[in-house]
Amino acid sequence: MDEAGILRDLRAILGDRGVVADAAGMQPYLEDWTDRFHGRALAVARPASTEEVVGVVALAREHGLGLVPQGGRTSLAAGATPDASGGNLLLSLERMNRILAIDRVGLSVAVEAGAIVDTVRDALREVGRDLPISFGASGSATIGGVAATNAGGANVLRYGMTGRFVLGLEAVLADGTVVGGVTPLHKDNAGLNWPQLLVGSEGTLGIVTRAVLKIHPLNGHVCAALLSVADVATALTLYELAVDRVGERLSAFELMSGSAVRRVETALKTASPIPVSPWMLLIEAASVSASVEADFASFVEAAMEAGLVEDGTIAASGEQAAAFWRLRESLTEAEAKTGPSAKHDVSVPIAALPEFVEAATAALAELDPGLQPNVFGHVGDGNLHFNVLGVDEATRHHVNQSVHDVVASFGGSISAEHGIGQYRLEEAYRLLPDAQLRLQERLKQALDPGGLFNPGKVFRRRPE
Ligand SMILES: Cc1cc2nc3c(=O)[nH]c(=O)nc-3n(C[C@H](O)[C@H](O)[C@H](O)COP(=O)(O)OP(=O)(O)OC[C@H]3O[C@@H](n4cnc5c(N)ncnc54)[C@H](O)[C@@H]3O)c2cc1C
Repeated sequence: MDEAGILRDLRAILGDRGVVADAAGMQPYLEDWTDRFHGRALAVARPASTEEVVGVVALAREHGLGLVPQGGRTSLAAGATPDASGGNLLLSLERMNRILAIDRVGLSVAVEAGAIVDTVRDALREVGRDLPISFGASGSATIGGVAATNAGGANVLRYGMTGRFVLGLEAVLADGTVVGGVTPLHKDNAGLNWPQLLVGSEGTLGIVTRAVLKIHPLNGHVCAALLSVADVATALTLYELAVDRVGERLSAFELMSGSAVRRVETALKTASPIPVSPWMLLIEAASVSASVEADFASFVEAAMEAGLVEDGTIAASGEQAAAFWRLRESLTEAEAKTGPSAKHDVSVPIAALPEFVEAATAALAELDPGLQPNVFGHVGDGNLHFNVLGVDEATRHHVNQSVHDVVASFGGSISAEHGIGQYRLEEAYRLLPDAQLRLQERLKQALDPGGLFNPGKVFRRRPE
């Protein structure tokens, strides 16, 4: 491979600012957020426009290089980390980070793919609108990244995953075609709904360069409660009560195991606002109307009167609510600080959550009583992060299989949010239905026959 020639051509397309090829400069782009996967690459391409992305795609195709799209590199599936071959180019969208248009009346925002989720959200809040995509890394994750992973987060039970926000995308395909745009149409049934094909495709079918997203009114009245419950079954009873009392204004219903909260206290020196109990819930309701406050308070009161809640408090101020959320959003970081873990981002039917936790905990204890589950997640989505601490590389495989077999026995999914990437590739090929795997491979073959985009992720082999 004529590396020097490739770098010269890359610089001709992108200019010096658009290329990082020195070892120190490239280092952060080669590492996975969990620090488990480390790759190598020829260079980092940092285009500043869709035309420059097209140029990089053409160069990669000409030289048979893999192209690894990157946004904020917060993937929890090692989706944005290159393999160890050193033969790939990284394609970072970080310079394409502009907010192109906010339409207050038409309820849409158009952005470049490298725009940071929280930055877009902050800009919308200033004009009384909101993009309720919120999770522990949304201060670094990009719009292209959340679209490519169909990310969820705390507000999915009310607003859905990122795909539900996508009104349209602009993308560069493997043959260099630019498809789509950012005209804010709320309805468009003229042909296939192809943008949704790229949603959740983890950079394997096309490069998202711009997006137009549905936005929502900013809820001026937000209520949050942090409550202790004895077990997951009680959490579910409480969820049912919240749905009855708060209805569609319920915007988050987050479950945290007491041991996960204790890890935040010890690893990050952040105290829980209420005494730690076996299970804790962070519940939020939000509305443009003040009436939500009385309804939320009466829901919490009813829960206490029914003896469902052991302890708890309703946030008296925005700062207190923010402290509740800091606790919730620190769980992943605290886990990372505690040591290596096996991550299981699973979903099961909501009603099966208590039984699932019991069965998966029992399966782990049978495998090795020293393994410690670190459990938290989104009750209203049937989605738990059933992570396991105390895992080394020798046991990881067995731990993954053991938890995922329990998930499969409930008809669940081995990735509710984070995607397959590299992390779950082996398990995806073990557990996904054969018909689904073949369909995915046919789509890959049709859109990216040369296997240009994100090699080694989602698909086990390059197309033939
Ligand atoms: C602390 C923490 C908490 C998290 N919590 C949640 C959560 O609650 N819910 C949830 O769903 N997820 C969560 N995540 C994971 C979440 O999916 C990712 O953080 C986010 O979606 C990735 O965005 P990114 O810009 O960092 O993309 P990257 O990590 O850079 O890339 C992610 C994938 O998308 C591809 N990609 C990136 N940009 C593009 C593009 N422009 N075009 C095509 N492909 C692209 C990459 O190739 C890769 O496969 C969490 C992550 C962390 C670190």
